[in-house]
Amino acid sequence: MQLKIYNSLAGEKEIFKPILEGNVGMYVCGPTVYSNVHLGNVRTFLSFDFIYRSLTHLGYKVRYVRNITDAGHLTDDGDVNNDRFVKQTRLEKLEPMEIVQKYTVDFHKVLDMFNLLPPNIEPTATGHIVEQIELTQKLIETGFAYESNGSVYFDVLEYNARGLNYGELSKRNIEELFANTRDLDGQGEKKNPQDFALWKKASPAHIMRWNSPWGEGFPGWHLECTAMSTKYLGETFDIHGGGMDLKFPHHECEIAQGKACNGASPVNYWMHANMLTMNSQRMSKSTGNYILPMQLVSGENDFFEKSFHPAIVRFCFLQAHYRSVLDISNDAMLASEKGFSRLMEALKILNLITPNDEKQSGFSLEDWKTKCYDALTDDFNSPVLIAHLFEAVKFIFALKDEKETISAKNLEDLKSTLNAFVFDVLGLQNIEENNNEKLDQTLQVLIELRNQARKSKNFDLSDQIRDKLLAEGIELKDGREGTTYVLN
Ligand code: AMP
Ligand code: ZN
Repeated sequence: MQLKIYNSLAGEKEIFKPILEGNVGMYVCGPTVYSNVHLGNVRTFLSFDFIYRSLTHLGYKVRYVRNITDAGHLTDDGDVNNDRFVKQTRLEKLEPMEIVQKYTVDFHKVLDMFNLLPPNIEPTATGHIVEQIELTQKLIETGFAYESNGSVYFDVLEYNARGLNYGELSKRNIEELFANTRDLDGQGEKKNPQDFALWKKASPAHIMRWNSPWGEGFPGWHLECTAMSTKYLGETFDIHGGGMDLKFPHHECEIAQGKACNGASPVNYWMHANMLTMNSQRMSKSTGNYILPMQLVSGENDFFEKSFHPAIVRFCFLQAHYRSVLDISNDAMLASEKGFSRLMEALKILNLITPNDEKQSGFSLEDWKTKCYDALTDDFNSPVLIAHLFEAVKFIFALKDEKETISAKNLEDLKSTLNAFVFDVLGLQNIEENNNEKLDQTLQVLIELRNQARKSKNFDLSDQIRDKLLAEGIELKDGREGTTYVLN
């Protein structure tokens, strides 16, 4: 089985050859934790979660690194007043690290809700200032960077003069870039408008600041990712991912930094996930066209007519290929909900099927499995994989109606393959089971409250709890081991 990956650098699908056989080093740009992640951000992280799960399922040992951008980074115009952390700290009257903690916790909660697996390493930019200073020093020593007024910039023209090619990922022509840029950022400090900051001098207003050989300042955004990916995955590693919008300048600059530092391209396969849109417009905080994940799950929003379980949102996202734009809408969510229920129902039915070794089945399990793996290994094509899973769903319903048969061996194989694709690879969760778990937890709380009421001789309340539950068909039984319940 050969895995093909669309490499943004090559502009085509390539056969994946890891540096170390059987192992994959993967780095994905993490969130900037100055506010709540919106649903668009979730789509990108979910796309890479699916890729991570797929690689693992295909037998690779993956070291997955996803960072937290917490050092504050400048907007493109380089104005410190536009630094998103500085703005937010003023707005919320919090310490920068309180902002970081608050939104990191929120980020983890949200991803957990959508059943994303945690990465193997989650480094923070503020935890790697020393490494970033060292890289900056190295780039100055090798002549790729220069200091100017307490800041340090990467010299893009020098990089190109040495035969390297700034713009190779975003397919931008350097001359065009120079012609089209008005120099607002680092006015007077930079040799050329396309030079980007490796280290930025902190103005008195800047709260997050560190000592460096160039005075007090803070690292450039692009350098953070180079420092952390090099540290944990090496100078050249297999896969680097992020949203499409990070291709330029962020990833272009990472390539330049890596090549200038080590003389080698830092990444073999660049992968870019496409955007989530709503009303055909890119989801983004700045335009106001966004929805927070919790708003979709709770139903408290103006865009959707009802609430949707996170597993259904996940299923909806995976019905689009990670490189396609996905427009989220009420209709799309309703269709996903329907599809999801049918898939889960089929899995339930499968457990009740009696095999039959006498009759020949019209469904070729081997062909079906091959098609599923072909989809997965064809640049992680989740919509095609899901379409194949629905062929199996159709077959399962035919088994139920006794229009088809399956041998005992194939039944076990179908069960384990389908379960692996649905739960391990797609990362879906069975809503019903989860609801049962929640019900159990809720009933345990009520039993505990009833016990407390009895202890304090509040028999009115304890009887009320028992009777009201009984009216709902839940019978409490007091025994020597404590109270249990029976659902009638
Ligand atoms: P940020 O915290 O702004 O750095 O964004 C975190 C990730 O979300 C980046 O990989 C972005 O490319 C990605 N992202 C931002 N907006 C969207 C969107 N509308 N759809 C999908 N991904 C997005
Ligand atoms: Zn990054």
